[in-house]
Amino acid sequence: MKKKTAEVLPGDKAFFPVIIDDKKCSGCNRCVEVCPVDVFAANPKKGAPPLVLFPGECWQEGSCVDACPRRGAIRWQRLPTQRVRCRRKETGEDFFV
Ligand code: SF4
Repeated sequence: MKKKTAEVLPGDKAFFPVIIDDKKCSGCNRCVEVCPVDVFAANPKKGAPPLVLFPGECWQEGSCVDACPRRGAIRWQRLPTQRVRCRRKETGEDFFV
C-alpha cells in the first residue's frame, strides 16, 4: 500500500503577525517553545526557521521576539485593523505604525 503524505501550507491571503528573517534565524526554536498559543512549529529541517502554521492564533504578546537571541531574526507586526495611519507634516507622506 502506498504511504500517504501531506503538506501544510498557509493560505495565500493569510496575514502573518510574525515575520522571520531566514538569513538571521538560526533555527534554535526558542520562539516555538515560548509561544503560548503554538503559532509556530519547529521546522523538520534542522537549523531552518520555524514554520508559522497558525498565524490567526497570535495574541501579539511578543514573547517570541523577546526570547529570540538573534536581533532582527523575528519581528511582529500589528494586525491591519490595529494599525494607525500617520502623516508627516513636513512632507505629507503617509505611514503606518
Ligand atoms: S528564536 Fe529567533 S533565531 Fe531562534 S528560531 Fe526563533 S526566530 Fe529563529
